[in-house]
Amino acid sequence: MTEAQPVIFVGGLGRSGTTLLERLLGELPGAVPLGEVVHLWARGVHADEPCGCGEPFSRCPFWGKVGDLAFGRWTAGEADRVLRLRAGVDRTRRLPLLALGGFPAFGRGRRAAELRAYVSAYASIYAAAAEVADGDWVIDSSKHASLACCLAAAGGTRARLRVVHVVRDPRAVAASWRSDVTRPEDGRPMARWAPGRTAVHWLAQNLAFELLRRRGVPVVRIRYEDLLLRPAETLRELAAELGLPLPPGALPFLDGREALLGVAHTVSGNPMRFAVGRVRFSERRVALPPAHRLLVTALTWPLLLRYGYRPAARAGAAA
Ligand SMILES: [Zn+2]
Repeated sequence: MTEAQPVIFVGGLGRSGTTLLERLLGELPGAVPLGEVVHLWARGVHADEPCGCGEPFSRCPFWGKVGDLAFGRWTAGEADRVLRLRAGVDRTRRLPLLALGGFPAFGRGRRAAELRAYVSAYASIYAAAAEVADGDWVIDSSKHASLACCLAAAGGTRARLRVVHVVRDPRAVAASWRSDVTRPEDGRPMARWAPGRTAVHWLAQNLAFELLRRRGVPVVRIRYEDLLLRPAETLRELAAELGLPLPPGALPFLDGREALLGVAHTVSGNPMRFAVGRVRFSERRVALPPAHRLLVTALTWPLLLRYGYRPAARAGAAA
């Protein structure tokens, strides 16, 4: 295990375009996209859901090798151990403590030891994945600010941890969380949230990433709308800010708002993780009833303005 493995953590509230961003970043030289590693234990090891390559987790050659290298092999017992640790330290309600640096990361308490053990499991996976794929930097699109705070607070991966904070107009996010989406993994509906609940989560997640940046963690923010409108430019700017190497000239996998995507061994994420070949991306506009729109705007307006969204703009429209 090495603690110097460069990691790009893609964060933001769900339905904000984190999977699309991971797929595009994953096409850059040296990148190893892993999907939402936070769900590897329950959805990969336990439920054996399909990898982005289409194979069940247990039969994916990439993840098989990563498990062998990181832990000897994947076992239900190891997954249970990490899930128990997660329940203790990686919780949204612990965010204020984590983000403010109050977490006793280097202390001798039980929680501090749990945090170190929890982050160590991720560090093992990151290092093994980079070795198996012969890549330079891994991408974890786990999204949750609480995990980003754990990785940063534990210190070990901090030196090589970079966070991409993806934001999207909260009215568009709320509209997406209201709509019916089926999980291709098992055909079951994805969770639906009422707009008020989405607004509160949008605020909590985005504020946590703001606090993380103030604690000195490298956090680069991008807007989903900019990625859709100007993919090549947005990716180039992002890569430059993250210090990632870029090929000269045009990005070979991008043609306007179309991307040519290869197979990615992503362990979890939105249905877009299975897309292979030529993929055209555009925002799926879902209407949000006016009363809900007003509520979400009223609850999120300070950050909404900070991120350049207009209070009266159409859902999803960037300023
Ligand atoms: Zn795979």
